[in-house]
Amino acid sequence: MIEEIEVRTRKRCELIDITGSVRKVVAGSGVSDGVCHIFVPHTTAAVTINEKADPNVALDIEATLEKLVPPDRGYLHMEGNSDAHVKSSLVGVSTLVPVQGGNLVLGTWQAVFFCEFDGPRNRRCLVWVSE
Ligand code: ZN
Repeated sequence: MIEEIEVRTRKRCELIDITGSVRKVVAGSGVSDGVCHIFVPHTTAAVTINEKADPNVALDIEATLEKLVPPDRGYLHMEGNSDAHVKSSLVGVSTLVPVQGGNLVLGTWQAVFFCEFDGPRNRRCLVWVSE
């Protein structure tokens, strides 16, 4: 069964730790060993796994993406958010995490981050676990 996590973003560009919500879906799935699928159904957002221990890592990722893909670069897309579309494709809208003993298997320093590139908005993230 596919569960939906609601994510309320507060800035135009930010990484939000959703690991706790993903863990709840895994716990409720009843699956002991398998794969947790995480999918972001948006064209200007993404999902990634990276370090949570130092919050500056998420800020560095945001700042680096901003430098790599500046907001105003003569894009063709008229909506004015082409940088957000490009960042979404660079980071990707899906990821997988192994599940073992009913728990996510993440490295000590790892967390699952929802990546907002055109906020603030109310977003969704789809999560399901397969054996
Ligand atoms: Zn657009």
